[in-house]
Amino acid sequence: MKEIIDYQAYQTKMQQIADLKYASALLQWDQETYLPPKGNDFRGRQIATLTELSHELFIDEKTGNQLKELLQNDKLTDAEKRNISLSFEDYQKAKKIPAAFVKQLSETVNKSFHAWIKARKLNKFSIFLPELEQVITLKRKEADLIGYVTHPYDALMNEFDKSMTVASNDALFEELKPSLRNLLDQIAELPDPDNRFLRQHFDKDTQWKYGIRLLKEMHFDFEAGRQDISEHPFTTNFNSHDVRVTTRIDENDFGNMTWSCLHEGGHALYEQGLPADQYGLPLGEYCSLSIHESQSRLWENNVGRSLPFWIYHYPGLQQQFPKQLGGTSVEQFYAGINKVSPSLIRTEADELTYHFHIMIRYELEKALIEGSLKAKEIPLAWEDLYQKYLGISVPDDIHGCLQDVHWSHGSFGYFATYSTGSIYAAQFFEHISRQYPFLDQELKLGNSKTVHQWLQQHIYPFGRYYTAAELCSRATGEILNSRYFINYASRKFSDIYQKNIN
Ligand SMILES: [Zn+2]
Repeated sequence: MKEIIDYQAYQTKMQQIADLKYASALLQWDQETYLPPKGNDFRGRQIATLTELSHELFIDEKTGNQLKELLQNDKLTDAEKRNISLSFEDYQKAKKIPAAFVKQLSETVNKSFHAWIKARKLNKFSIFLPELEQVITLKRKEADLIGYVTHPYDALMNEFDKSMTVASNDALFEELKPSLRNLLDQIAELPDPDNRFLRQHFDKDTQWKYGIRLLKEMHFDFEAGRQDISEHPFTTNFNSHDVRVTTRIDENDFGNMTWSCLHEGGHALYEQGLPADQYGLPLGEYCSLSIHESQSRLWENNVGRSLPFWIYHYPGLQQQFPKQLGGTSVEQFYAGINKVSPSLIRTEADELTYHFHIMIRYELEKALIEGSLKAKEIPLAWEDLYQKYLGISVPDDIHGCLQDVHWSHGSFGYFATYSTGSIYAAQFFEHISRQYPFLDQELKLGNSKTVHQWLQQHIYPFGRYYTAAELCSRATGEILNSRYFINYASRKFSDIYQKNIN
């Protein structure tokens, strides 16, 4: 019976590590939602201590020996074997990073997050710069510690998606650029849909209630989660029975709250759908961040910016805001919320220009990590790239390089997953639509169960069992293919702009 005891011992240990990690995640959630400002300093060290402890526990020699022994055990089930091999992979990687480094990074990131908040308030990148420089130095060191074959940025991207490399991403983006450019050029020649109706006064409480309603309708389980307000919307989870989403409400822009709810809701459904009995083990964790992002983008855009979705939801929305939306038809609403136009803020970008926002960040990060760009040069480089890709000028830092939280969090290598996530989403959604020809009819009747069920069947239950590429192939019959996104976009925008765009 030794084998079974060993696996259980492994499981117990992994779950203890998960307890520490999720306790830290709860402290972070609290930090971004309810923590009084003076609590920040102590909170930083509390998070750093828990992060260091869980890391130490995981890279312990005993863990390694236990895993090596279990790797030889052929009496384990397939799922157990997969857990062991994934944990061993994680272990080997984590072991390269000393616990002291983890703690130092956690503390640095905490300080830089606050510097970023302050810099945003004063609209001044230079306030964030010294902290950002420290984060970049540590991230470059982290890349060296992890190791890489061709590019240091590979090591960092790998943390978010194992299949991602500079080579694969460069290829994907180079393939995407001309097709996107082509669609954008055609759209630029056409009259813009009016979206001014979004920018009126929308009462905060009514918006909040509407967001909760959207989450309920998309099958978010409020018995296993909640929504709160934060500066930057996010999803976090402590197990699949406790998943938290946040949103932000702008009383002068209805779009902010609505699509952030649908976006974070999509992330949350994935987390709520992961197998609870695999708590703390790789098979209880999401496949990759690209796949995670595919889940949010699918609900936000493929479902939540579609005409069938709003044919059902729009009358209810008009009832909540009769003064603001009473005179706008659902077709006008649909066209307005999908208006394509180069803009400064990534999270407010349309589905097409969005990819350029990502490519810009990707290029900057790659250069920062390889050392060809200095942190102090970011604002100028930002301006250059926004001119190059979107033809617009950046008026100040808050509308430029201070807009995203990621760098202050030390999340270098993350951005590309937003683009790949959107491409996966288009591929998944196309597959669902082909399999269920009545999907549009169902969505028009307010029924999004088919979408949820397909994801429950093809994406959620596997955790990390399959790689992103395997998961995608199993679900759709082929690996990631950017053609799905381009076809989806050309169909959608031909419909909206009432001209054949391809
Ligand atoms: Zn997201």
